[in-house]
Amino acid sequence: MKYTYYCPRGCEVFHAEDEGYTECMNCGSRMTPDQDAFEDAVERREIERTAEILEDATGFYISAEFPDGSRDRLSFEYWHTRKAAEHALRYRKWSERDYDSPEWEWGD
Ligand SMILES: [Zn+2]
Repeated sequence: MKYTYYCPRGCEVFHAEDEGYTECMNCGSRMTPDQDAFEDAVERREIERTAEILEDATGFYISAEFPDGSRDRLSFEYWHTRKAAEHALRYRKWSERDYDSPEWEWGD
């Protein structure tokens, strides 16, 4: 019997002869049999690949292009400066916003 494991961060798919967990060769995460988590991660990666810093009346934020072609704010946080927003994007010091909520917070 063949077993298939997925990286929960979307890096790779691994086919094994034996049942048992293994680590992702790329990021070291524990592989999971959960294909949905993998596909969500792949989609999120695609979205994050398009991420860029934009500015509106509130401040600077991370925007990205979504699968439907629209561009929207991705980050829950806003930053006072472009530099701070770029730093947050580079070092992953940001969180995805709740698209149904207008709430946001200042990022570090
Ligand atoms: Zn991985």
